[in-house]
Amino acid sequence: MRIGERRRFWLTRQVEQLWLYGWLCLRSLVYNSFADGDTALDALFEPIYWLVDHVTRWFGVSKSDVAAVSICRKCIAPKPARTHHCSICNRCVLKMDHHCPWLNNCVGHYNHRYFFSFMLFMTMGCIYSSISGWDMFWEAYAAIETYSQTPPPTFSFRQRAFHKSIVYAWVLCSSVALALGALMLWHSVLITRGETSIERHINRKERKRLQKKGKVFRNPYSYGPLGNWKVFLGIERQRHWVTRVLLPSTHRPYGSGMRWDTPACVAEQKPPLLAI
Ligand SMILES: [Zn+2]
Ligand SMILES: [Zn+2]
Repeated sequence: MRIGERRRFWLTRQVEQLWLYGWLCLRSLVYNSFADGDTALDALFEPIYWLVDHVTRWFGVSKSDVAAVSICRKCIAPKPARTHHCSICNRCVLKMDHHCPWLNNCVGHYNHRYFFSFMLFMTMGCIYSSISGWDMFWEAYAAIETYSQTPPPTFSFRQRAFHKSIVYAWVLCSSVALALGALMLWHSVLITRGETSIERHINRKERKRLQKKGKVFRNPYSYGPLGNWKVFLGIERQRHWVTRVLLPSTHRPYGSGMRWDTPACVAEQKPPLLAI
């Protein structure tokens, strides 16, 4: 009787240990400190998303007025060309470029020009401040260097705070000029090519895929370098270079972002010879 009890206890303990070991293995395999309830729910809904995607593809997506090329699996709504779903904003964004964590907003069809203008003017302002403040920075820096000399210089608290503020402001301005300038130049390249940041990756893949087949990829949304800038800045007439580029303007971008017909300002141009 006692032996039987001991045996049962030993068996329960073995099963318990096996269970704990298995649980630990499973946790080690799937544990993710960044995962939360939303991630788990998304993963559970994945088969439904798959079903929606395939069923709508089967029946066709152009049932509504929206010129959709696919269906957003999250919004379960038609998704026009160049539109992407932002998981942070939790919505589809027309001609989505990227989600900017600094602006806490998406950069897309309606605010891409403002985003670029912000980068351009901020960089120009920082470069101006860095160049014009160079002498002031150097004087303040030289003064700080003398703090540890003996006998110590007779700077007041106010003067010392002034020196440090100047150095801080100059370093901040120069760093922002460098970082934002680089980002602005990169976006200039993308605009010249008629691509968004997301399309850059998609097009690169597509280019490689077609290259293997001996074909040349041509970006359907590119109207040539000048044409792309005209479309991006909204230049319809010559005077718009002044009124819409040099001066602040609230004009809306070309089109609704739903359809991507060739704009009138570039329609008369021949397609670019170089496919980019
Ligand atoms: Zn969506
Ligand atoms: Zn977003």
